[in-house]
Amino acid sequence: MKPHKQIKDWGLGLTSPLIIAGPCSAETPEQIEQICKEMKEENMVPQLFRAGIWKPRTRPGSFEGVGEEGLKWMEIVRHNLNIPITTEVGNAAHVELALKHKVDVLWIGARTTVNPFAVQEIAEALRGVDIPVMIKNPMNPDLELWVGALERMYAVGIDKLAAIHRGFSDAYDKRFRNKPNWSMPIHLKRVWTGMEVINDPSHIVGRRDGLQEVAQRAMNFGLDGLMIETHHDPDKAWSDAKQQITPARLKEMIDSIDFKEPLETMGPDEKLQDLRRAVDHLDDQLLDILQERFAVIDQIGAHKREHHLTVFQSNRWKEVMESRTQKGVSKHLSEKFMKELLYCIHEESVKRQEKQLREAEPIKK
Ligand code: PEP
Ligand code: MN
Repeated sequence: MKPHKQIKDWGLGLTSPLIIAGPCSAETPEQIEQICKEMKEENMVPQLFRAGIWKPRTRPGSFEGVGEEGLKWMEIVRHNLNIPITTEVGNAAHVELALKHKVDVLWIGARTTVNPFAVQEIAEALRGVDIPVMIKNPMNPDLELWVGALERMYAVGIDKLAAIHRGFSDAYDKRFRNKPNWSMPIHLKRVWTGMEVINDPSHIVGRRDGLQEVAQRAMNFGLDGLMIETHHDPDKAWSDAKQQITPARLKEMIDSIDFKEPLETMGPDEKLQDLRRAVDHLDDQLLDILQERFAVIDQIGAHKREHHLTVFQSNRWKEVMESRTQKGVSKHLSEKFMKELLYCIHEESVKRQEKQLREAEPIKK
């Protein structure tokens, strides 16, 4: 998909991966000052400082952010840490105020990404402005909405774009505050080549324990940075108290994460190239086999048409699913993978045969 400037070209002076830290919400100038002080003492100065100024709360009556006043406190960050700041904008008025106070990077929250009207309003307010924008995934696992929000920004000339993976709400899975669905950020990277995705373990886990594990997985998958809510006194935070960590703990966590080397920067690696060639070859074989399989499927389709048989036959489907899954499991492939693979192949077969039926000349009796 569309080209855009990568984070390293945003002018942040990056050493990758990007680390964003700071409180869920700006609360008081003293709070901002104390967090900066501890970041400095711990030698844990992030590349970008986050603080929510306007808080989109699920229920009314929770702390809704300090508003414009808080933007003035960002001077404390600039002065003490000399790093850029980022905040969430949810409408055109927020954009105007954030730009007035020279916020360096904007982000769009999960509750806003779901709403194309709101995203478009923000995009219009940003038309012709040169500022990086990060877009959090929508609350629901809908890749199109996520891509759509990025496209709306790109269309008004914002080409410094990144995505933030903060997980997806799920009524049943209580292990996470927001379920990671790792295939989503990976798929975003597939459909928009070069799109960098920053992982937000704080909003995925919703608790302090487990943050490190999610952050490590994000790095293993090859995501491009971490956004971690950091507060000098997390238990007393005015929002998201359960998930925030101290600068000291952040330092410990970042130090123990195994950051993988992005392959692109590794230089020629003969062994890897060899293995990749082998995979290319196997993929070619797989495609040949699929082509052959679908040719047979088409013959079965013709036969079914001739004999007035239905395309879908549940007994056969059940037998195929069971026998292949069993075989797959005996070859150390997971049951879930086998089922998904078979569904996918079978769905395509049914579609092809149904199309054959629709498009074929009626059989003369
Ligand atoms: C936040 O970053 O504090 C926030 C409100 O995040 P999200 O939009 O991911 O819920
Ligand atoms: Mn938060």
